[in-house]
Amino acid sequence: MRGTNVSVMEDVDIAIVGGGPTGLAAGIYAARAKRRTVLWERGVLGGQIALTGVVENYPGFPEGVQGPLLALDMHRQADQFGMETRYDGISSITREPEGTQFILETDSGDAYRAKSVIVSAGGTPVKLNVPGEEAFTGKGVSYCATCDGAFFKDEVVAVVGGGDAAIEEALFLTRYASQIHVIHRRDSLRASRVLQDRAFASDQIEFIWDSTVEDISGDEDVDRVTLRNVLTEERSELAVGGVFIFIGHHPNSELLGALTKLDEGGHAYVNLWMETEQAGLYVAGDVRVDAARQLASAVGDGVTAAIRSEQYLQEHYS
Ligand code: NAP
Repeated sequence: MRGTNVSVMEDVDIAIVGGGPTGLAAGIYAARAKRRTVLWERGVLGGQIALTGVVENYPGFPEGVQGPLLALDMHRQADQFGMETRYDGISSITREPEGTQFILETDSGDAYRAKSVIVSAGGTPVKLNVPGEEAFTGKGVSYCATCDGAFFKDEVVAVVGGGDAAIEEALFLTRYASQIHVIHRRDSLRASRVLQDRAFASDQIEFIWDSTVEDISGDEDVDRVTLRNVLTEERSELAVGGVFIFIGHHPNSELLGALTKLDEGGHAYVNLWMETEQAGLYVAGDVRVDAARQLASAVGDGVTAAIRSEQYLQEHYS
């Protein structure tokens, strides 16, 4: 087990792993409770909302709010209360060999001892795992229409998936692409009714049902996909300049496997207080089981975890 021989550099009250909305909301509460709170973020603060355009369904913003701006404001708010931010990844979390605290090791080799830990590490996009996907990532293959849609002005593109993310992003792409083919492996969508209705009403969106993408190809950039109809086994080629893939997310729970129980998909089991089977360890947001995976619920999770974490510190450390 890692973490047993490191010399601890710094003591932290509440360690937060992941700087998306869940972690930032937890940070606001934890730091405002005057606990030494440190948040680690390996990539960009804001998580998925940093990659989003306008968020329309976050309460209190009837005109919508820009995701990246909201993330910056959440961070500024936490910062004002004294939360410290480290732009580094956490590579392991272990329990002190003879104690109750946690040892966190960072990608850059530092070690911290924390009384309580909130893991809010979010998730990463599920890959199709077909030929061409990896090679053309950034050259026509994308997992974020909000980030990359503008590069496909007046082009024909494909969107893979039938959930909320796929349909929402297909709708977003209508701002740029001339035509969007939504390729779905069944003949009905998982996406919510309101999104379905909007997509069916768009004359730029066309559905290709009962089909999967078998291959993504091109020269420098993507120029076509090979489709397989899962009912007839018929294969066909579709000329597209881009392929946007939205077939779900994997929770980033690699740090948790040795500490607490995960479900088959890798989500951590928690109770309604975001408590795990390790006292003092909380898991919140997209990395836990049964998450609604909405911005507002992610924020709520972070708040719940921070309140419980603070109570835990009061009970065990005063
Ligand atoms: P999701 O709801 O799990 O949908 C994934 C879609 O990808 C499904 O249609 C699934 O098909 C398809 N799929 C999965 N594996 C596939 C494969 N290997 N090949 C082809 N297709 C595959 O995931 P999501 O859309 O990312 O949404 C995740 C969560 O976030 C959901 O709870 C969703 O409601 C929420 N969300 C909400 C909003 C919003 O409300 N505005 C926006 C984005 C996400 P099947 O249907 O056949 O399983």
